[in-house]
Amino acid sequence: MPETTDQQKFVYDFTEGNKDLKDLLGGKGANLAEMTNLGLPVPPGFTITTEACKVYLGSGSEPTALRDEVSAHLEALEKRMGKKLGQADDPLLVSVRSGAKFSMPGMMDTVLNIGLSDASVAGLASQAGDERFAWDSYRRLIQMFGKTVLGVDGELFEEALDEAKRAKGVTTDVELGAADLKRLVEEFKGIVAEETGRDFPQEPREQMDLAIRAVFDSWNGDRAKLYRRQERIPGDLGTAVNICSMVFGNLGPDSGTGVAFTRDPASGHQGVYGDYLQNAQGEDVVAGIRNTVPLADLERIDKASYAQLMQIMETLETHYKDLCDIEFTIERGKLWMLQTRVGKRTAGAAFRIATQLVDQGLIDEAEALQRVTGAQLAQLMFPRFDEKAKADLLGRGIAASPGAAVGRAVFDSYTAVKWSRSGEKVILIRRETNPDDLDGMIASEGILTSRGGKTSHAAVVARGMGKTCVCGAEELEVDTKQRKMTAPGGVVIQEGDVVSIDGSTGKVYLGEVPVVPSPVVEYFEGRTDGAAQDADELVKAVHRVMTYADGGRRLQVRANADNAEDAARARRFGAQGIGLCRTEHMFLGERREMVERLILADHEDERDEALKALLPLQKSDFVELFEAMDGLPVTVRLLDPPLHEFLPDITELSVRVALAEAREEAHENELRLLQAVHKLHEQNPMLGLRGVRLGLVIPGLFAMQVRAIAEAAAERLNAGGDPRAEIMIPLVGTVQELEIVREEAERVIAEVEQAAGTGLRLPLGTMIELPRAALTAGQIAEAAEFFSFGTNDLTQTVWGFSRDDVEASFFTAYLEKGIFGVSPFETIDRDGVGSLVRAAAEAGRATRPDLKLGVCGEHGGDPDSVHFFHEVGLDYVSCSPFRIPVARLEAGRAAALGKGDSDSR
Ligand code: PEP
Ligand code: MG
Repeated sequence: MPETTDQQKFVYDFTEGNKDLKDLLGGKGANLAEMTNLGLPVPPGFTITTEACKVYLGSGSEPTALRDEVSAHLEALEKRMGKKLGQADDPLLVSVRSGAKFSMPGMMDTVLNIGLSDASVAGLASQAGDERFAWDSYRRLIQMFGKTVLGVDGELFEEALDEAKRAKGVTTDVELGAADLKRLVEEFKGIVAEETGRDFPQEPREQMDLAIRAVFDSWNGDRAKLYRRQERIPGDLGTAVNICSMVFGNLGPDSGTGVAFTRDPASGHQGVYGDYLQNAQGEDVVAGIRNTVPLADLERIDKASYAQLMQIMETLETHYKDLCDIEFTIERGKLWMLQTRVGKRTAGAAFRIATQLVDQGLIDEAEALQRVTGAQLAQLMFPRFDEKAKADLLGRGIAASPGAAVGRAVFDSYTAVKWSRSGEKVILIRRETNPDDLDGMIASEGILTSRGGKTSHAAVVARGMGKTCVCGAEELEVDTKQRKMTAPGGVVIQEGDVVSIDGSTGKVYLGEVPVVPSPVVEYFEGRTDGAAQDADELVKAVHRVMTYADGGRRLQVRANADNAEDAARARRFGAQGIGLCRTEHMFLGERREMVERLILADHEDERDEALKALLPLQKSDFVELFEAMDGLPVTVRLLDPPLHEFLPDITELSVRVALAEAREEAHENELRLLQAVHKLHEQNPMLGLRGVRLGLVIPGLFAMQVRAIAEAAAERLNAGGDPRAEIMIPLVGTVQELEIVREEAERVIAEVEQAAGTGLRLPLGTMIELPRAALTAGQIAEAAEFFSFGTNDLTQTVWGFSRDDVEASFFTAYLEKGIFGVSPFETIDRDGVGSLVRAAAEAGRATRPDLKLGVCGEHGGDPDSVHFFHEVGLDYVSCSPFRIPVARLEAGRAAALGKGDSDSR
């Protein structure tokens, strides 16, 4: 619980705050203060701090000092306005509005017209010269107060309002007269008394205090909590409360209310953007009761206010150095500013506005980098479904790999490959995928699974390929045997039917939804020139921002890639090497049989033969890879997955053998295979015989891989190339494991050097992906020339979460309960996994100051995580080719943080 101190100040007048006090005054309060200080026409008022809210939420009651402070500020406000809150003959009325540090539109409470009562409604009527207006304001107060402060079901008020209109034979609120509204007020008061067992409070100060408390409470309302989780806003910030004297836009045709943007939030273009509604209050605009007119029409309606507004907009843009959005009210020809903030914008507009502001000399390049995000860039890179198109939703799953894909449904990889060879576009639909599906995944436009989470095989591999993927769509029943999928509504998709999947939203549609390609990808692919005079405006802006990022970043960006095609794409996208080549991906398809022979070998001869057969294939893979990445580092990881992944499924094989035995046809090889599968079967393969353990148990396996790397490097060298291979050992837990592998590797490399007649520089390092490795990193660095943090396995082992299962099982419950705001497999868990990374990096460098440090888990391409890796001093991040631009941008943003000349937000 936050502690209160004697000196703590809980209430700030608008004249006392400024825009940099958002933590304390919330966004709205800080900006109202800033506008007040700029001399703009803001109705006077004051702000109760987020600290007061925190005390209230922590202890259940307001800080003791708050009441007196509010009294003092209210008194000052009354003096300034020349009238008292709720004064019978001329009442001061105030609004009580929520306003947290981060904008949470409509998620918390607001009450208007506080101060009106039976005693003051006539005073308001005579001051405004409008009886209808006064009774309408009073009924709005009871309605809003009843619903948000007293918890009365809002429908009851709506029904009474509808009934009043029906009785009078009218359809809109504005057709109700003063007498109707007066009757409605009595009815509303009756509803309050009935529902709450107490009368609507007539004491103005009590109204205000109850409204303040309701705003505090609304921080923990269901809507607010859900919104914070989605937007990753911390749950302990609390909200400020703004008490502002009321101004009225509903006092006749010379009054009104509107919203305005200083630039177009969709394109970034400068101009007059916004809407205006004559004779109305703010909530009428939102409720859409009457149609608004374009802001430009205000010039005709009220020339003077329009001119003043234009000038204020210019002042605000120059002052905030950014697009601002504004809410204003005109009360009988007098303009009032009710709110401003740096406005939300589309991803494309963010890039364009950032560069426009640089051109206007308002911000520098470092600041421009803070005006965009990697998530916005990622959004611009994926093809999208045309929003205007009509689409039939079949169901939804987890948005695992973004993009929009359309194709014919196929239910196995064989068909996917066959159909795609004949020119069909296909979507591979499986319950879940495994390494056998790789060919099918490559051949497909997108992948849809009914099981598995964001780190399931389908999701990880699809992201690696930049392929659209929706996984874990459990409401879609996939029957691969019958080759069909059944949607919840009973619609059945047969093989060959067209489906569309959206990997950015997880939605699955029936039929073809039209797709719009991304011009930004065309640019990264090198097919368009972002620096050209006639380049697309958006592409030009992206090109410039990327140039700023690359110019300032400290982190290098490498790719996770294991074939020449991916390597070449990664290079086009700006990769500075390969940080992870997973060699197991090279043992699929027909080569799998060779691995099977290796595993089954009874004698040394058989094993050697199997290894000999694999060697040239591995070597030629590496030659291609080193060629594609000539001059840049390529980190090759030796074999990692458990051996059973290369063998047939135990159940299927058992059934096959049993059937063959029954027919007395059992084949000796199948029996041997079954024995081996049994022998290698593990309950927990992820914690079993994999990684370095394999290399130590299967003689010759790692030596063969090292030889292939060394021979490929020698061949490239002799051909005049510049290969920069690095050898990486997975799943090391202790330095002893590494020392044994190192000794053997050095021997093999020396042999190759001698045979090739050339010296080779092949640094050997390790992955840090087990807690023990992180905890003993100082020792491990004695035998390793580099560390690459395998944060997928490290997250799995630090949390004890199975990376293949948990996201699809209990993570939803964890996210709902707020245990974490985002999966730790997606964004690095700074406190747990991150602190191990930090400590291991420090310990490793203490042993070996020139130790190279990188990360190659999925986190390497995640925006938040990239900032963390920058902070802990890693040398590079490595991620899938499609995430490279995002990683480059975020690395640039991390380096530029705090260096901008106008960090105004
Ligand atoms: C990791 O564990 O973070 C890693 C990169 O290795 P893999 O995902 O192949 O286990
Ligand atoms: Mg790993």
